Amino acid sequence: MRKFQVITLFPEMTTGVFNNSMMWKAQKDGIVELTTVNLREFGLGSRRQVDDTPYGGGDGMLLMVEPLWKAVEFAKSQDETAKVVLMSPRGQRWRQTKAQEEADDDRGVIFICGRYEGVDERILELVDEQWSIGDFVLTGGELAAMMMIDSIVRLIPGVLGGEKSAEIESFSDGETLEFPQYTRPEEFKGLRVPDVLLSGHHGNIARWRAEQSQMLTKKNTP
Ligand code: SAH
Repeated sequence: MRKFQVITLFPEMTTGVFNNSMMWKAQKDGIVELTTVNLREFGLGSRRQVDDTPYGGGDGMLLMVEPLWKAVEFAKSQDETAKVVLMSPRGQRWRQTKAQEEADDDRGVIFICGRYEGVDERILELVDEQWSIGDFVLTGGELAAMMMIDSIVRLIPGVLGGEKSAEIESFSDGETLEFPQYTRPEEFKGLRVPDVLLSGHHGNIARWRAEQSQMLTKKNTP
């Protein structure tokens, strides 16, 4: 079974995401295993220290290399072939095509979540890839890891109901946005569902959707 392990100082941050809706169902159905590794357990000394001030000066704290190293080794012992990924604003930008690649792969992933000013650079010795969710800075890697896991897991066959729903949605080809969709009622506060969608004419519906997709993609992508 596919494993995703998240190394974090704040394991509780993952519970809302892992224990609800599709992420919960994917685990219940035995498709994925989503776990956390509590960095604190690998902290040093009686205070279980995990962070310290940076050499050379500067504000804030860095996650120390030794607790992170031990946590990665522990996670590897749970899944020897897993890929080790550091959450980092420096990393490769996350995209739907990347999520699809990961969904198609059968290697597990170990996500290292930085905190404070980040991590001691030496942990890169154990890191296979660095991934970023965009050009902005979070207080920690947890939200980034959750977004990535959510976007990968929903693409693993068997997780979503209709497999086609993931095939033709936004960015599935790398760029195109999805067309507008409607459900009951036909009219709400005077707002009507476009006639073509009620027509039952599959050819016209497909054409309308393709046009809308093209128009939205042109309008909304830089
Ligand atoms: N001092 C660092 C930022 C540290 S933010 C810098 O200037 O680059 C603390 C942690 O949050 C990082 O170690 C990383 O794990 C995570 N993080 C912050 N922004 C992120 C982003 N855009 N994508 C992925 N992880 C991010």
